[in-house]
Amino acid sequence: MLDGQRVTTASEAGWFFIGFDRDAPASAEIRVDAPAGPAVQRLDIIPGDFDIQRISGLPQDQVSPTDPALLARIRRESALKARALESRWDADAFTAGFNMPLETWRVSARFGGQRILNGEAKRPHYGADLAARAGSVIRAPCDGLVTLAEPAMHFEGGLTMIDHGQGLTSFYLHQSRLDVAAGQRVVRGQAIGAVGMTGRATGPHLCWRLRWRDRNLDPTLLAGFLLPDPG
Ligand SMILES: [Zn+2]
Repeated sequence: MLDGQRVTTASEAGWFFIGFDRDAPASAEIRVDAPAGPAVQRLDIIPGDFDIQRISGLPQDQVSPTDPALLARIRRESALKARALESRWDADAFTAGFNMPLETWRVSARFGGQRILNGEAKRPHYGADLAARAGSVIRAPCDGLVTLAEPAMHFEGGLTMIDHGQGLTSFYLHQSRLDVAAGQRVVRGQAIGAVGMTGRATGPHLCWRLRWRDRNLDPTLLAGFLLPDPG
């Protein structure tokens, strides 16, 4: 339970995942109900530091669309993403840690920056933008279950979503090519697609996102992170 709300169930081995987002409150209470009795832990959440990102010259229908047909399409695509986010793959693949999804990259926009698009203040940027050569192979950073693979979303372009267990879901945006399909299991290191600039992108890059429930997390915090050996 997180702050009094039941949010997840541990795997058979006893692992569970809880994420804290950009604007998480300064403290949280985790309560675990186990056969041996409950355990409670308070966590202090340290605020991150975030950039301001200004991008100009985007086509207006990529910033504040008004065309009814386009708005309907965006709503349909939101529903597809929402359905994929309901996945709760019964696995704890995330305990093995994450790799970076690209072999070479340059961070072109960090997670969480306040976005000013064509002069309009928009939602923070909930991804890490990894600039890379167009066509670079994107690899699954961890085992998972593909929950969505759509070649041409309005904002995201070629989009893949992968559940790494218990609904912890990573996103891969702007791909020029998808190599996997929804419902498919993938293993760490498997090619899932290629870097492109489809959707709202001003150059070839991978926008890498991570979601837990309704919270957007910084995926780069997971790369290279390993659980302590439980002994
Ligand atoms: Zn991005």
